[in-house]
Amino acid sequence: METGFDRRYRLRGRRALVTGAATGIGRAIAVRFAEEGAEVAINHRDGGDSPAAALTEAETASRKAGFTAARHLALAADVADKEQVDAMVAKAIASWSGLDILVNNAGIQSFSPSEDLDEAELRRILDVNLIGAWNCAQAAIRHFLAAQKPGVILSNSSVHQIVPKPGYLPYSLSKAGLANLTRTLALEYADRRIRVNAVGPGAIETPINKGWTGDPGKRRAVESHIPMGRAGAPEEIAAVFAFLASDEASYITGQTIYACGGLTLFGEFRSDWSSQSG
Ligand code: NAD
Repeated sequence: METGFDRRYRLRGRRALVTGAATGIGRAIAVRFAEEGAEVAINHRDGGDSPAAALTEAETASRKAGFTAARHLALAADVADKEQVDAMVAKAIASWSGLDILVNNAGIQSFSPSEDLDEAELRRILDVNLIGAWNCAQAAIRHFLAAQKPGVILSNSSVHQIVPKPGYLPYSLSKAGLANLTRTLALEYADRRIRVNAVGPGAIETPINKGWTGDPGKRRAVESHIPMGRAGAPEEIAAVFAFLASDEASYITGQTIYACGGLTLFGEFRSDWSSQSG
């Protein structure tokens, strides 16, 4: 079947807002989307990580791919603040005359044994990781519906959507919540051509993991738990987002795709310890 679809530029002409895109996986997503022909808005927090380097990288990627007229944006907003999110989404829509793709990527975590967990800290993390995703999703959905056109909403979840993470209860709760945000919105809007999916990364080399990425001993310890034996690169996660954002995933909605080097495979079962007689 001849469709005229060019796989190198699957996102040609699409307008995508990526939250928390100044660093890490969000930045890699913005750059990958730009390479594939999209215009991207790099969301960042005022006074947080600077979007300058990500913006320059996205511009370079577009130019290299021949999209010299791509209009990338840097948009400040705290995703936990509904008013700021609505203003940010309105700004993207006004700048581009529309929006096609939202990526909920912004996320934070902190360690606390659950018996010591402060309620304010629990709420802070849920407000960014889960309520923040809903804030952005609602603004995008309202636009898609008003414009009567298809839309894509993707969220950066985690293996901790399904794998418990002791000492990180708010993070685990937020990612588990993203599963049902994804599935519920997918079902609610499937008949209005809005696809909603998530990606569940394993251990990826980004600033959120600076506690072990720079320390060879700690890195070995982390990687010893990963069936594929290594941490992932942000670009390996961005590739999954690009696929899900594109028309190649046109029949996929409500799913979380795990890109985790096998972390969700219960690695302890590599040997038959559970069946050996004593
Ligand atoms: P990161 O710290 O580089 O990225 C998080 C980004 O979110 C930062 O740019 C930060 O400034 C931004 N951010 C934080 N709070 C914000 C707010 N209130 N409003 C707007 N932006 C805000 O780390 P990362 O690893 O790239 O994390 C990106 C996402 O990937 C997170 O949702 C994280 O939970 C998820 N994830 C990461 C890993 C990993 O191993 N790195 C694994 C699974 C899931």
